Amino acid sequence: MTRYALVTGASRGIGRAVALKLAEEGYNLLINYQSSDSAAGETFRAVEERGAAGELLKFDVADTAAAKSALEDWASRHEGEYIDVVVNNAGIRRDNLMVWMPDEDWTRVLDISLGGFFNVTRPLLQPMLTHRHGRIINIVSLSGLKGLPGQTNYSAAKGGVIAATKALAQEVAKRGVTVNAVAPGFIETDMTADLDRKTLARQIPVGRFGKPEEVADLVAFLASDRASYITGEVISINGGIF
Ligand code: NAP
Repeated sequence: MTRYALVTGASRGIGRAVALKLAEEGYNLLINYQSSDSAAGETFRAVEERGAAGELLKFDVADTAAAKSALEDWASRHEGEYIDVVVNNAGIRRDNLMVWMPDEDWTRVLDISLGGFFNVTRPLLQPMLTHRHGRIINIVSLSGLKGLPGQTNYSAAKGGVIAATKALAQEVAKRGVTVNAVAPGFIETDMTADLDRKTLARQIPVGRFGKPEEVADLVAFLASDRASYITGEVISINGGIF
């Protein structure tokens, strides 16, 4: 049976690296993104270069109706098949001290990370439960574990996803569906391009930022059959910084 993996925010950064790794592992890839058409096209070509089939699914994960319609449309074109791996990776930062945080920066960050997790995962749950196999992997953050100043919105969003991960894991465990979170520290992507990497790297015990491919390796392990007894877990990948 053909296996399908959906990665949200797969046009760039960690999402792209995860999509490519899962393509190497033999999955066909559903590449979600919001606006970067040419970057998403590059991910698509790189997936195909790895011998897997790719499909672009452009929608805003924060938009409940758009997510539902895109996933229903996919299901109607793939009768008898289902998406057995979902990686909820799409996310943004809108950092500010809370005292100055605009309403929309609070809402948007929560709507994409926490709302996006719900909007994308819920339509995929029933088929996973019916097939008694599924992998739900949520990309969270160190910020959601310890809380970081300047990121009340982002910490709340990621902390919310961590709690939902633990709750959902217990709901679906008996049906062979695992739900885990991966919590990166500082990773070299567009999201961290504005940071002073040299100075920050001194605070990281390993002495450098992580690479998207390193996160992708962990995600691929959690997606595999080798990880079937790991669920409700939050695994940090942060070079030793806590
Ligand atoms: P990135 O390079 O900024 O890429 C973000 C990706 O998310 C892009 O593909 C973007 O699509 C997509 N996206 C953003 N909003 C979306 C929406 N509303 N709907 C659908 N797709 C959307 O970010 P990254 O560093 O790879 O981060 C990926 C995940 O890891 C995020 O959840 C982030 O919070 C988390 N994380 C990152 C780090 C880090 O150091 N980089 C650390 C901890 C956690 P477009 O290209 O179309 O905009």
